[in-house]
Amino acid sequence: MRSININLYKMVDLEKITIQKTSKTRINEVDFANIPFGKVYSDHMFIADYKNKQWGNFRVVPYGYMPISPATPAIHYGQSIFEGLKAYKNDKNEALVFRPLANWKRMNVSAERMCMPALPEELFMEGMNSLLELDRDWIPSTEGSSLYIRPFMFAADEYIGIRPSDNFTFMVITCPVGAYYSTPVKVRIETHYTRAVEGGTGFAKAGGNYAGALYPAKLAQEEGYHQLIWTDGKEHKYIEESGTMNVMFIIDDTLVTPSLGDSILRGITRDSVLTLARHWGMKVEERRISVEELIDGLKKGKVKEAFGAGTAATIAHIELIGHEGHDYYLPPVEKREFSNKVLKELDAMKRGISADTFDWIYKV
Ligand SMILES: *Cc1c(COP(=O)(O)O)cnc(C)c1O
Repeated sequence: MRSININLYKMVDLEKITIQKTSKTRINEVDFANIPFGKVYSDHMFIADYKNKQWGNFRVVPYGYMPISPATPAIHYGQSIFEGLKAYKNDKNEALVFRPLANWKRMNVSAERMCMPALPEELFMEGMNSLLELDRDWIPSTEGSSLYIRPFMFAADEYIGIRPSDNFTFMVITCPVGAYYSTPVKVRIETHYTRAVEGGTGFAKAGGNYAGALYPAKLAQEEGYHQLIWTDGKEHKYIEESGTMNVMFIIDDTLVTPSLGDSILRGITRDSVLTLARHWGMKVEERRISVEELIDGLKKGKVKEAFGAGTAATIAHIELIGHEGHDYYLPPVEKREFSNKVLKELDAMKRGISADTFDWIYKV
């Protein structure tokens, strides 16, 4: 076993986290040069229980299966939420996490919508910290890779009546990941199925949103597309997002992205891209974008760039957009000035290479 330096009792606001280390690390089984997305998990996981209206029983245990009641409402009714963020290493071998407080805040927005208890900042941060300190060697340093951090919370009553649970479990697992998409993505505009509607749960990272999106995405994949671009659930006339990524376009010389509503996930990557673009003095518009405007712009060559923005994929260049049986191609990736620049800058910030101008980097 490698020796690990952990400061278990530095927390002031949390009762201590008990740590049970694995007897045998699995890190040597991992080929860090070829990491598949989301299939290899690090040695440990963090767990906290919510009982009698408070969080407790904080523990780090070896990653593995755990017993769950078959009557757990999370399984039956999807009272379950999650987050996704990434850790990187700088050249001093320190662990850096990108904007974790934004994820913590958003998790509490999701929790409120799904009738789940709020997570104190210390619990979210120290849960993540305790894990990263123990499993820091799992943070890849190869280019294009990082350690994906997945905090999640689910209803844990043993009760199959439909009502908000009284008991919940909060957990964090991590996995080293390489690139999410290996090529520019082909997307199709979806004008029949709906991911989220006004008044619904689209703005929350709630489990069921993703299950409901699988079938339409599968149909598109059968047609040769990687992903969908969802449109509004009412008229299917306005562009929304891509289901794990927000979408952005350079139309003429302006960065344009759909404005947020309750059917669009408030992406942290989206916010980071907009912040950088404004900082660089670029024209930025958050507004409604109709399918008609987009297709017209593609036909006339006004749409210079199109990309998805999300933690898993970071910036995913869009190669083509399908609509009503026709594929509209975007200019070649090497000609896309903005998306390449923003991808490079975000990557440099996350790895501690360029200055942390916006206070986005959290050092473990
Ligand atoms: C997570 C997610 C995104 C991207 O959000 P980031 O905070 O940038 O990772 C976009 N859309 C949906 C539906 C998501 O779940």
